[in-house]
Amino acid sequence: DHDTILATTSSAAAAPFVRENTAVINLDHGDPTMYENFWKQKGKETTVVTSSWQHISYFSDIKNICWFLERGLMSAITRLHKVVGNAVTEGRHIVVGTGSSQLYQAALYALSPHNASEPINVVSAAPFYSSYPLMTDYLKSGLHKWAGDAKEFNKQEPYIELVTSPNNPDGSTRQDVVKRDKGILIHDLAYYWPQYTPILSPADYDIMLFTVSKSTGHAGSRIGWALVKDREIARKMTTFIEINTIGVSKDSQIRAAKILEAISDSCDHANEKDAETFFDYSYKLMAERWKEIREAVSKTELFSLPDFQQETCSFSGRTFGQLPAFAWLKCEGDVDDCEGFLRKHKILTRGGKHFGASMKYVRVSMLSREKEFKLLTQRLPAIVS
Ligand code: PMP
Repeated sequence: DHDTILATTSSAAAAPFVRENTAVINLDHGDPTMYENFWKQKGKETTVVTSSWQHISYFSDIKNICWFLERGLMSAITRLHKVVGNAVTEGRHIVVGTGSSQLYQAALYALSPHNASEPINVVSAAPFYSSYPLMTDYLKSGLHKWAGDAKEFNKQEPYIELVTSPNNPDGSTRQDVVKRDKGILIHDLAYYWPQYTPILSPADYDIMLFTVSKSTGHAGSRIGWALVKDREIARKMTTFIEINTIGVSKDSQIRAAKILEAISDSCDHANEKDAETFFDYSYKLMAERWKEIREAVSKTELFSLPDFQQETCSFSGRTFGQLPAFAWLKCEGDVDDCEGFLRKHKILTRGGKHFGASMKYVRVSMLSREKEFKLLTQRLPAIVS
C-alpha cells in the first residue's frame, strides 16, 4: 500500500501541494501499519534473536492436543486475556494458526458433519467480512458452502453462523441472529480489544478466534489463535492444520509470544513506569483518527458514518463509543457506486457488495500509516459531486 503512494508521487512535481493531490490513497486492505511507530520505540524487550540450531523440530509439545503450539505462546495468550479481561481461557484448548484465516478454515473442517449428503450452510449477518464467502467456497468443498446473509437464512437445514464482534466492516457489536436449535457458532473476535471497543466482559463462547494482526498490528507474523471449549473440536482443528501446513512457524510463534508478554508486562506495571502502554497508545491513536475522519465527513453533505453508543470499558475505565478498524462510509444523495466515485478521486476502498451490502457503502481502512490517513482526511472534504 505504501509503495503505491511512493510510486504515484515520485513522478509528480516536488511541491507538496501537487503531490497530495495526485497520490493514490489505497485504503482497500486492512493492513495494520498504524502501530509501527509504537513498536519502533521499543528495544530489547520486543526483539527476538534466533540461532540457526533453534526451532528445528516440527514439534513443540507432543503432550498437548495442539502439538505444534509453543508453550511460551500458550502462556502469553492466556496471560494477555487475563490482563485485558476480554476472553475466558479457563477450560479452553488453544489452537494456533497461520493467522486466524487458517483457523477459520480449520473450524469449518472441524464443525462440518463429515457424513452428510449435502455440504453444511455457512452464514453471517450482512455486512459480513468479505473473505468469509471466498474462504468458505474456494476449494469447492463437499463439507461446507457459503449460504449468505444470516438474516435471510430460512432453510430448515443445519448451519454454521459466524459472529464477528466488533464487526468487520461496520464496527457494530453483534450476537448470533439465526438462533435455531443445533445452530453451530464461530465467534470471530479479531477486534475485541480495548483500542477498538469498550471491553464489557470476558467473552465466553464455544469457539473464539483471535489474531495478532489486529490486536498488536503484527499481521506479517501470521499468528492467530482459537480458544476452543470442546476437546474433540480442538483435536479436529489441529488435524486440519497438520494436513494443511504440518503446524505453524515456530519463529513466528516465539516472536508473537515475546510481543504479547511485553504488552502484558507494560499493563501490569503501568503505574510504576512512565512509559505508555500499547493499549493506551493504540486507543489514543484510534480516538484521534475517528475524531479527524468525523470532522472531515461533517464538512461535506456527501458522506455519512455510523454512530455508536458509549459504554464503559472494564479494562481501561474509559467511557467511549466504538473506534472501529474500518470506517463504513456511506455515499449520501444520488451516488450509487461509492467505490467507483471515490476511485475517481484516487481513494481506493472496498465497495459494499463484497460484504453482502449496498454499493452506496464502502469500507475504508483506519489502520494505515499516518501519511495515507492524513491525505484521506484532507481529500474527503474537498470532494464535490
Ligand atoms: N477475521 C476478521 C474479522 C478480520 O478482519 C481479519 C483480517 N482482516 C481476519 C479474520 C484474518 O486475520 P489474520 O491476519 O489473522 O488471518
